[in-house]
Amino acid sequence: MQSPWLQQALLSESAHNITPLDRDLKVDVVIVGGGYTGLWTAIELKNRDPSMDVAIIEKDICGAGASAANAGFALPMWLQLPLLEKISNTSKAIHIGRASIAAIDDIREISLSNDIDTQISHSNTIWGATCEKQSGHWDKMLSLMEAFQVHSYQVLDKHKIQQMTGSDSLIAGVIDTASIMIHPGNLVRGLRRVALNKGVRIFEKTPMTKLGRTTPPTVETTKGKITARKVVLAMYGWSLSIPELRRSAMVMFTDAAMTVPIPDKLRDIGFYDAPGFTDSRTFIESIRPTSDGRVMVTKSGGWLPFGDRLDACPEYTCRSENELRRVLESYHPSLKDVEIEGTWCGPIDRTMDGLPTFGRLPTCPHIVFGYGYSGAGIVPSRVGSHILASLVQDLKDEWTSCPLVRPLKKDFPNEPFRWIGGHIVKSAIERKDRLDHEGLAVGPITKFWLQFTPKSYKPS
Ligand SMILES: Cc1cc2nc3c(=O)[nH]c(=O)nc-3n(C[C@H](O)[C@H](O)[C@H](O)COP(=O)(O)OP(=O)(O)OC[C@H]3O[C@@H](n4cnc5c(N)ncnc54)[C@H](O)[C@@H]3O)c2cc1C
Repeated sequence: MQSPWLQQALLSESAHNITPLDRDLKVDVVIVGGGYTGLWTAIELKNRDPSMDVAIIEKDICGAGASAANAGFALPMWLQLPLLEKISNTSKAIHIGRASIAAIDDIREISLSNDIDTQISHSNTIWGATCEKQSGHWDKMLSLMEAFQVHSYQVLDKHKIQQMTGSDSLIAGVIDTASIMIHPGNLVRGLRRVALNKGVRIFEKTPMTKLGRTTPPTVETTKGKITARKVVLAMYGWSLSIPELRRSAMVMFTDAAMTVPIPDKLRDIGFYDAPGFTDSRTFIESIRPTSDGRVMVTKSGGWLPFGDRLDACPEYTCRSENELRRVLESYHPSLKDVEIEGTWCGPIDRTMDGLPTFGRLPTCPHIVFGYGYSGAGIVPSRVGSHILASLVQDLKDEWTSCPLVRPLKKDFPNEPFRWIGGHIVKSAIERKDRLDHEGLAVGPITKFWLQFTPKSYKPS
């Protein structure tokens, strides 16, 4: 199930050589996972020490995970400041916020200097509300941002949003003026090219079958064993296959659809080159224009895998094409009959507090990991690559002492309780999202289950 983003990115490549691992190997660092996290980390390590021998193994092809399946909203991490401050201190929290702005600059810079067609749109992202109950919850967030001297969020009324997006479905919102929108597939495939040019060895179609928590650690694959000084697990939701990482995060899929190019129609309705926007449901909906005049929509709260069986995901989305079309129609009614080019879904790795987690495996300090982006990983994965590189180099610096390097938690139960509980919480969220729109309050049982909802990166 390749997203149109990945299909487009692969089409634009002149040659695409897949090299699976076919022998034993000794390297300085082996990275498991060829998405943004793995590729940025490999590039960062090579920038710091060009002589370092770095290899990546990827079970499919680079970008086949979430990195080419996402909606392309590259968001700064300012909204996480209050929580980061709570678990560390003000200056460490601000360091992460600033690092996220630098990460957006890095996306621009690496695209420019390596001719990556990231299709950056500076039209920003709007957080909107589609009903009274979901409106105004950003007031608290905005006053907190003021306290941190962050001025990149601006409140918009219905009229202004309508002017900017052509949609009258949002009754109010906040624009994030530091955010950009990108072509996620071109970015991840571009990072692959940059990593290869820097001498990183990339073995695709090479799943890790066993992780040796030894000194030095080992990574086994079907046709060869890699012995490395350090192992980086950049496996995103698939981190749940690592027992030590399983209970700190859960995975739920998000469904997505993309239309065929309709630039003239988008110009007519005022959505060409416009900001993308998301609503304020817990199971968030988002809609954005692409630079070639398509529209992409997403709806979270899809398929819930049992344990780490992410690859058992059916070859279709949880919602039908018609349901995704209804999302599109609710924001832009005139697009209801537009041809949909593709639908797909992808995993979201959620931690309970919505912050990613980085660290060393408690069972082997030579194995480091980063995951739990909770729905917004484009920017944090670049921030995380600094952290992972410093962990690999055993440095004691601002990255290894940052609040995202933290002990693993046991927030989520083992199976089958996780799957059963997950479905109950999922129903409670669906009920709340529906009742909010009917102007009704949830009952005590729904309220009880809602307390187990993992936090999101959006203002709440
Ligand atoms: C539909 C959707 C919409 C999203 N929208 C946004 C958005 O608008 N903005 C945003 O910031 N974020 C968004 N995200 C989240 C974002 O895509 C991720 O946080 C980000 O891509 C994480 O990058 P990653 O490299 O950690 O993960 P991935 O890109 O998934 O990379 C992990 C890789 O590890 C590989 N792997 C797993 N197990 C093994 C193994 N055993 N051996 C070898 N390789 C293995 C996988 O194949 C995969 O390629 C969205 C996600 C989805 C699914």
